[in-house]
Amino acid sequence: MTINIERIRRDIEKINAFNATPGKGVTRLTFTAEYQGALNYVIDQCNHFGATVSICPGGNVRGRFSGSDENAPAVMMGSHLDSVVNGGQFDGVVGVVTALEAARTMVENGIAHRLPVDVVIFAEEEGSRFSRGLLGSSVWTGRLGIDQLSSIVDGNGVSYLAAMAQAGLSVTEDHTLKPPDLAAMLEVHIEQGAVLEKRGHRIGLVEAIAGIQQLNITIKGTADHAGTTPMEDRLDPLQAAARIIIAIDEIARNTGPHTVATVGRITCEPAQVNVIPGRVRFSVDVRDSDKKLLGSAVAEIQRTVQTICHERKLGVELVRLSEAEPVVLSDGILNLLEKKSRENDITPFRMISGAGHDTALIAELTKAGMIFVASRDGLSHCPQEFSRLEDIALGCEILLATVVELAN
Ligand SMILES: [Zn+2]
Repeated sequence: MTINIERIRRDIEKINAFNATPGKGVTRLTFTAEYQGALNYVIDQCNHFGATVSICPGGNVRGRFSGSDENAPAVMMGSHLDSVVNGGQFDGVVGVVTALEAARTMVENGIAHRLPVDVVIFAEEEGSRFSRGLLGSSVWTGRLGIDQLSSIVDGNGVSYLAAMAQAGLSVTEDHTLKPPDLAAMLEVHIEQGAVLEKRGHRIGLVEAIAGIQQLNITIKGTADHAGTTPMEDRLDPLQAAARIIIAIDEIARNTGPHTVATVGRITCEPAQVNVIPGRVRFSVDVRDSDKKLLGSAVAEIQRTVQTICHERKLGVELVRLSEAEPVVLSDGILNLLEKKSRENDITPFRMISGAGHDTALIAELTKAGMIFVASRDGLSHCPQEFSRLEDIALGCEILLATVVELAN
């Protein structure tokens, strides 16, 4: 039993033909015509191979390949088809096509399985249309109620539910996912980083998905003349921000092996060559797979901000933007994936996912695992995003072997 690499190549090509920005990367926003085209392609494939396709809460799609026990919990696998604006061809798509290919291979080879095997496509993973990531899986897992969903709109004021209806997606299976529904969740995804490539690995196995805490920091001083204000009389927020930003880098390096912290956005007012700034705003994004370390890094950053601003007699405002808890994936699944990788003559690299994924939410309901496929130069969310077809196929082989074992 082996997967069909040519079919995976064709799937990726067909799906990416549905693109709002040809020549400028892939743009396939949730519930647009392009999205619906790509989704229909996968639905047709599922139907063709005998799956029962359902539209689930939040507009997520499930293609169920029934097992001999109709009432058994399902082994779920899949990812997303929505993209960022001007993104790449592989993010999300790789997880959908490998799930599809694994299921098709099982059907073609008449592999008996007791548990249902579900190919799933999560809606609005990126948050590129409705400004909130993991939206589909949040609704499906009941984290976000349908009532809350009705107030979510895109940049043009079109509501999530209206967009879903326009795309012809009406819920046919309104059951919210609960632990008894699932036996396991598996997601193949591109790494979106360069850890695997730099270490010479083709496949990574995810031990944990990092938690995220984001802050917005505003430091207020006094805008003043750059020539007439002596150094000791200045209330310069940018000088404080510079010291804080250096400290943030040091805090991340000294907290834990997987702690990362980024200041990615900074604005300065009035931003004149000959004026001392009056106000500086910057963002901080802190991630770690260890909840305690994440909390301590953020607490130390907050302390540093207060200390430096106090010393310099500057006003400061600290706003928490968003938070996601770290998720530790199943040890049992990890070991099984490791075994199946080795059977495919591969030594996988165990790693942390610095990016969030739908599997993080499903992992609260069932044991979950993720297979990472190496990314070239670590580039993602851009037209240059690339993973080798041979590596994607290898991820698919490992997925298939794992699903076959879990579904029996
Ligand atoms: Zn993704």
